[in-house]
Amino acid sequence: MNTPRSNFPPTAEMQATDAAHHLHPFTHGDALNAKGARIITRAEGAFLTDSDGNEILDGMAGLWCVNIGYGRDELAEAAARQMRELPYYNTFFQTSHPPVIALAKRLADLAPGDLDHVFFAGSGSEANDTNIRLARTYWAARGKPEKRVIISRKNAYHGSSVGAASLGGMQAMHGQGGLPIPDITHIDQPYWYGEGGDMDPEAFGRERARQLEAEIHRLGEHNVAAFIAEPIQGAGGVIIPPESYWPEIQRICDAHDILLIADEVICGFGRTGAWFGSETYAIRPDIMTIAKGLSSGYQPIGGSMVTRHVAEVLNAHGEFYHGYTYSGHPVAAAVALENLRILEEDGIVEHVRDTAAPYLAEKWLQLADHPLVGEARVKGMLAAVELTPDKAGRAPFAAPVGTVGLRTRDICFQTGLVMRNVRDSMIVSPPLILDKPEIDLLIERAVQALDTAKKGLEADGLMTAG
Ligand SMILES: *Cc1c(COP(=O)(O)O)cnc(C)c1O
Repeated sequence: MNTPRSNFPPTAEMQATDAAHHLHPFTHGDALNAKGARIITRAEGAFLTDSDGNEILDGMAGLWCVNIGYGRDELAEAAARQMRELPYYNTFFQTSHPPVIALAKRLADLAPGDLDHVFFAGSGSEANDTNIRLARTYWAARGKPEKRVIISRKNAYHGSSVGAASLGGMQAMHGQGGLPIPDITHIDQPYWYGEGGDMDPEAFGRERARQLEAEIHRLGEHNVAAFIAEPIQGAGGVIIPPESYWPEIQRICDAHDILLIADEVICGFGRTGAWFGSETYAIRPDIMTIAKGLSSGYQPIGGSMVTRHVAEVLNAHGEFYHGYTYSGHPVAAAVALENLRILEEDGIVEHVRDTAAPYLAEKWLQLADHPLVGEARVKGMLAAVELTPDKAGRAPFAAPVGTVGLRTRDICFQTGLVMRNVRDSMIVSPPLILDKPEIDLLIERAVQALDTAKKGLEADGLMTAG
């Protein structure tokens, strides 16, 4: 693609302007402004270019979303075509438009089981806000308005709006702004490395799943509307549940009359080697949250997919007083459709399943031999390594949690790899289109960064267990 480059001011000037006027998400403003933001100016395939001309392998696919990779002209064309023809119209007042109709049908065909209706939103957070109201309205429509409580999990991430962050189980987020909202509770996560102790991982997975049943009993089944979970927790640190976990969760949801909401914002659209994480784990959700990979991040769009049964109850109930100005935005819908076409016609989900994920797993799991690594885990194109000063004991560092992770993240950037830290683990979620040489490069740079990090930790006396 030979798109002309935009002109932009020198890096230092842009950083100063950014510091002067831009409040960044999930960022300590003063800390950032003291050193200046890294400014990304272009991207192609799996590679970013910054304003100083450095090329960086994007091991995070933006924020877990650029599934088909950067620079696909077809999406730009789809957006331009739609903007010229119908840049905006709403779907509120008994109106619809061709892209939203086609996208709803396409999603109904792709989604597992009879998840064949979709309520559109502008993001994953909005979609999860919709899910709170949708699940409660569903039970009200069935004459059980007291079924209101939604059970979620500690350290889950479901978005950043008031509702979605309440569903999420991030302590730091709940600490700001008076969250969670009422009638949302959180059980423990299936995080074996961090919380499994001496237990066998499969036994631990079953035990954590059974907390759901205990919580339903504690609250009273007649008060519980739904359970929500990510098939694999992403922002919580790529927490891949033991194989025993999801079958037990599914059994419990079936045994009790509650809705199961699968938050597929990260796992959806190929990341686990199937179209949806629910297929990878044989989950049968009543509601599925989608966003991110739905458009590969080229446009902001999300949605709630629901089963035919849920849709029928809702449709019969009367008006659902809920919607966003940009629900089913025509340009976003047209871009999402084109993204889904590429995912399918380029065989990207099969590429993940048959080639990229097995190769990544083979290489990534070897990182477990690195002296700084306590565990390496991988599923599809999601992977993590836990850093530790004491391999045998899975011990945390003496330094405050996140110190080592942040240092390592900065070293990765300097090494030409975006690899994010969560606490003191390092995670990747790369574009799904990575080929074997690119996976080799990712691993090579990760090893280089881990080596450099370890040397620095030793020099600074930080390789001690806490
Ligand atoms: C990113 C994310 C969200 C929130 O999506 P936004 O588009 O950022 O609002 C919700 N759930 C999961 C699992 C996510 O990873």
